[in-house]
Amino acid sequence: MISIKDAIQLVKSNCNPLLKEVIKPLEKSGNYRLYKDVYSPIDMPPFRQSAMDGYALNLHNSTNYKLIGEIKAGDDASPILKIGEAIRIFTGSPVPDSANTVIMQEKVIANNATISLEKSAVSINQNIRPKGEQVTKGDLALKKGTKLTPAAIGYLTGLGITEVSVYKKPSIAIVTTGNELVEAGQSLQYGKIYESNSKMLQNALYNLKFYDLTIHKIKDDYDETQSTLNKLINTKDLVLISGGISVGDYDFVGKALQQLNVEQCFYKVMQKPGKPLYFGKKDSTTIFALPGNPAAALTCFYIYVHIALQKMMNNTTVELPKTEAKSNSTFNKTGNRPQFLKAIYKDGMATILEGQSSAMLQTFALSNALVFMPEDVNQINLNDTLEVILLPV
Ligand code: AMP
Ligand code: MG
Repeated sequence: MISIKDAIQLVKSNCNPLLKEVIKPLEKSGNYRLYKDVYSPIDMPPFRQSAMDGYALNLHNSTNYKLIGEIKAGDDASPILKIGEAIRIFTGSPVPDSANTVIMQEKVIANNATISLEKSAVSINQNIRPKGEQVTKGDLALKKGTKLTPAAIGYLTGLGITEVSVYKKPSIAIVTTGNELVEAGQSLQYGKIYESNSKMLQNALYNLKFYDLTIHKIKDDYDETQSTLNKLINTKDLVLISGGISVGDYDFVGKALQQLNVEQCFYKVMQKPGKPLYFGKKDSTTIFALPGNPAAALTCFYIYVHIALQKMMNNTTVELPKTEAKSNSTFNKTGNRPQFLKAIYKDGMATILEGQSSAMLQTFALSNALVFMPEDVNQINLNDTLEVILLPV
């Protein structure tokens, strides 16, 4: 059995960026990172653009100008303004080359055919976005590795780009094990429970924007376990197994993984919940066998699988954010394993919830944080300073 610290270190050192390329439609590339530098196919803006509703002028010494017409946004007219002439113009309209400034309409008194400026202090090139101000055609628009945020997607779409080359996200399989498990929606016979870990893990993955996943449900049967895992380990980047990894007579996952020559990086972590956690590798596939107990499985997902996913995505921040909080609760630990406690964090205070059993999801459903209780702390008192892990909920 290893420590949490060593287990985290092993996940970090054994998971690497996938470095596989995939082409995505830009609107579906959110949260991916660019696989290649992107160069701009156009000047942005593509023409001299007015930044205001007002008047484009060909400057002269007087504050009075002759008004010769208007240019709306989208017009392709480019009339020639003589010195002392003005044209009505709007935000986003093309500014003719012969105009050398735009004055906002609030500073203008307009008559029918003339306008007069409120103030004579009008300077050259005001309120004109020069052609190529943001980026010029052929220049670097965004660097390789840049995360595609909504702003980045808007920016690249504005350059006319419709698809991008990005780093592939891991393909993931979720495998549940257990003869006792039935599908929600079916009737529940004596001795059975509804299978819930697959939907829970699927949504934890969706929450982190991993969508490439399949779900497989197997019985406590050695041959089925071995053949299913064999197929998935050969085709997926990440395999998440739920249950069947403890020491019961019908827990076949460990034996099957061994038989398939998966390299075990660790098995069993000194922690509560989630002691029977397994982490291994085969070729480029990462394998976690999570405890079947739902709250233990989810805790292990947040503490370990989260790191593996972020490493695969080449992200530099791989662990969930932590903060300090004052305790609103008291808690006594039984045993000496470090513990992750379901809690609610708010305004610098943490409330530890009742019902910390690894089988209970009810309190997990109410919590937005895990309080970490180290090995050498046996008791939490009111106002103690606590380490809190903030969950992505
Ligand atoms: P195991 O790790 O297979 O010994 O399972 C531990 C506990 O978690 C047992 O009470 C199982 O019934 C329960 N469990 C295992 N897998 C699931 C699942 N997919 N959904 C809900 N409960 C599960
Ligand atoms: Mg089981």
